[in-house]
Amino acid sequence: MVQIIRFSVILLIYSLYNCNLTAQSIFKPEVICRGLCIADSILFFREVKPGDCFAKNNRDDLDMQQIVFENSQSISSELLTALCFYPEMSHLRIRITCKAIKQTMNSRPSPLNIFRTKPNRVYKLIVNNNKGKCIALKFNELSFNIKVGWLGHELAHICEYEKMTTLQTIGFALKYVISKKYVRMVERNTDLITVRHGLAFPLYEGTGFLLRNTEISAKYREFAIANGLSLSEIKCFWCSMQNGY
Ligand SMILES: [Zn+2]
Repeated sequence: MVQIIRFSVILLIYSLYNCNLTAQSIFKPEVICRGLCIADSILFFREVKPGDCFAKNNRDDLDMQQIVFENSQSISSELLTALCFYPEMSHLRIRITCKAIKQTMNSRPSPLNIFRTKPNRVYKLIVNNNKGKCIALKFNELSFNIKVGWLGHELAHICEYEKMTTLQTIGFALKYVISKKYVRMVERNTDLITVRHGLAFPLYEGTGFLLRNTEISAKYREFAIANGLSLSEIKCFWCSMQNGY
């Protein structure tokens, strides 16, 4: 018994340390955009429409066999459109389901991934059905553009999970639970990845909608304000990207 506890403690310390060494290079301590931005251009405010993709991507590359919709078929068009902006994820196995959670949406690796090789990993993307205690945005009532932005943010999380080893994933999960600073770092970086994948305006519109919404719980709004990129930061990073940074 003592040996099991000792082994668990060593694994815990090692995974946290290992996460620091490697995942920190992925999740920058803080992402800051201080550049000037004139983003009131028609290019920024372009809504994503069903079937839109980056020109260089091909919707046909998506392997539909890998996407499983569990009681969530109604968002298939939005998800496939969001996936078009993440060509590197076209081979990943993702299960989408609706159930009660604390946010509008979240994504996570399947716990069984510990026993799977990297090509066989499965990721879960969960949409809040608002049947639990926490009231988030009513996903079905959002515009297509906002839904794609929201899904784009979750796909950005999955993109990062895919880069991690199993041990790093464990370290990441532990740090995410115990450190508010780390949560902020991860969420802001995830927003940045979403912008870099061409979904700045969907993210911007979704963030603005959430901040104006009066139906969601105060705790959830506070979380969004404290941890996500602000509207002006989203524009600023989009500008930087246009300028090649
Ligand atoms: Zn997130």
